Amino acid sequence: MMPFTSDDAAELYGVQNWSSGFFRVNEKGQVEVTPAPGVSAVLKDVVDELVERGESLPIILRFPQVLAGRVKQLNEAFRTAIREYGYGGSYQGVFPIKVNQRRMVVETIAEAGFEYAHGLEAGSKAELALCLAQNMHSEALLCCNGFKDDGFIKLALWGRALGKNVVVTLEKFSELERVLKVSRELGVRPAIGVRFKLHARGSGQWEESGGDAAKFGLNASELLQVVERLRQEDMLDTLVMLHTHIGSQITDIRRIKIAVREATQVYSDLVDEGVGLKYLNVGGGLGVDYDGSKTTFYASMNYTMHEYASDVVYSVQEVCKQNGVREPTIVSESGRALTAHHAVLIVPVIDVTGPTRGSQFIPEPAEDQHQVVKDLEEILANINLRNYREMYNDAVGDKETLHNLFDLGYLTLRDRARGEAIFNAILQKLAKLVSGLPYVPDELEDLPKVLADKYICNFSLFQSLPDNWAIQALFPITPIDRLSERPTRQATLVDITCDSDGKIEKFIDLRDVKATLPLHDVDGSSAYYLGFFLMGAYQDVLGSAHNLFGKVSEAHVLARPGGKHDIELFVRGQKARRIIESMGYEEPMLRDSIGEQADRAEAIGELDPGDKSELLEDYDEELLGYTYLEYEE
Ligand SMILES: *Cc1c(COP(=O)(O)O)cnc(C)c1O
Repeated sequence: MMPFTSDDAAELYGVQNWSSGFFRVNEKGQVEVTPAPGVSAVLKDVVDELVERGESLPIILRFPQVLAGRVKQLNEAFRTAIREYGYGGSYQGVFPIKVNQRRMVVETIAEAGFEYAHGLEAGSKAELALCLAQNMHSEALLCCNGFKDDGFIKLALWGRALGKNVVVTLEKFSELERVLKVSRELGVRPAIGVRFKLHARGSGQWEESGGDAAKFGLNASELLQVVERLRQEDMLDTLVMLHTHIGSQITDIRRIKIAVREATQVYSDLVDEGVGLKYLNVGGGLGVDYDGSKTTFYASMNYTMHEYASDVVYSVQEVCKQNGVREPTIVSESGRALTAHHAVLIVPVIDVTGPTRGSQFIPEPAEDQHQVVKDLEEILANINLRNYREMYNDAVGDKETLHNLFDLGYLTLRDRARGEAIFNAILQKLAKLVSGLPYVPDELEDLPKVLADKYICNFSLFQSLPDNWAIQALFPITPIDRLSERPTRQATLVDITCDSDGKIEKFIDLRDVKATLPLHDVDGSSAYYLGFFLMGAYQDVLGSAHNLFGKVSEAHVLARPGGKHDIELFVRGQKARRIIESMGYEEPMLRDSIGEQADRAEAIGELDPGDKSELLEDYDEELLGYTYLEYEE
């Protein structure tokens, strides 16, 4: 066999395809983050340092330099396109904070975006309150989307009074009167945006977000009514932004071009109507190539960030030229594309199970062993490369019979145990036979999945990868170490929740998806860590506390020259008591209850005083502990 190298691993896991240059496999077979030229950090070194300090996994590693890098890339992509086409306007992005409201994320984007006057977008009162407190460039936009009440609008208008460039976007027609009313009450003139319902649609999983039946936005006639109403009030100059958004993760660049053309057409007509529009907001939707396939598959995209910027700028310019209107400031609300790359979840593998793992013990046959068990023995003895398809199908049938007979009382537990063990032995033999084949026949398509190991990983899918559960989102997953060694196992992953949905059985692939992930054998002698990549968009905030597995610990890491790193900040994950309290319990109540029960047990002699205090101490310790499994490393 050819030796296996780091390059082979990089190819096997598609690292170059999905990492956008922010991650690579080094010569030692370790994953490095490479946020900028000349600096890098080895993920395994960071994890080892944290473990040495006594911290427990899972841990999210956040790389502020990657976030800043994405902000720069996006803005530079637009600047380049504007220069190339001689576009008459400029670009000013806004970050929709619903994608990730973490302080580190918002502050890093605000800071890195300052020189580009990159702004923020809020979709609720709480988000707006947060955004208003950020230090932003005076021209940076603060867009207010989402349905609004008086309080929301008041907060937005006070933002204008503070000198911030706040735009209130009307999501439905009736919001206009509310804005006019609150504006009169406060004596603050608004800057208004209108979200228009394009008939163009996105592509991919959020295709339904666009089109005539969309949840948000005004149709053409409502839009004209807004114009008339503002004209009446002599406030046409307050309508500054036309806003459109056709959904997230748009996989096909053609859909973007079509939508942008339609939006620019509307923009031009409004300008002709005498509206003082300044901004054309093309919304979010800039994709992330999670599987690296560069296709219109839902986990991918068939364009680059540069092509996106280029096509948006070109389309707007072309329509403006045709209509002879001034080119607007282009705004995009790219969220996913800015944040996805900056976060990596590190998860330890804590055990491995599976049909070809664990005890290979086959119980002795009973004297009157059942015929079905004998049939399985026969298959095990005779299965080979010529007959394996037929033999495998027979074995599957026999196993079913075995279980039916057991349920009906015709088979002893010994026969069942022996039959199941022989079936597993058949699978193992089969696995060896087919491992040398160039392809596995179609009718055995689910064989790799049947034979796969289950790697039990110390994390909760519902807390850390909610989109994998909810909408089958795919994230690249690789070991962060041992990548100069050939992975010899095929695995699926299971989490530690008591929910059978807490598993991953689909993995990224250049063609469609893979049923198993190649991994290294683990024997428990040293820790084996998996990195879950591109986790920075939506997952942090959508995660839920299933089984009371709480927020994960996180480290903010700076990469340095020469593969060194600094751990800037460590935030310990949610303690058990915090998450218990979030369900309406109070800590003293819990302690009192345990204390009273312990007193009673002591009174009747079930517990001696020494054990009682130990019990109470252990209980306290767990209340203060991490919600994930903690094994001595
Ligand atoms: C969610 C949302 C976005 C963000 O979209 P991404 O695809 O993450 O860039 C932008 N604009 C609006 C109106 C949104 O609701």
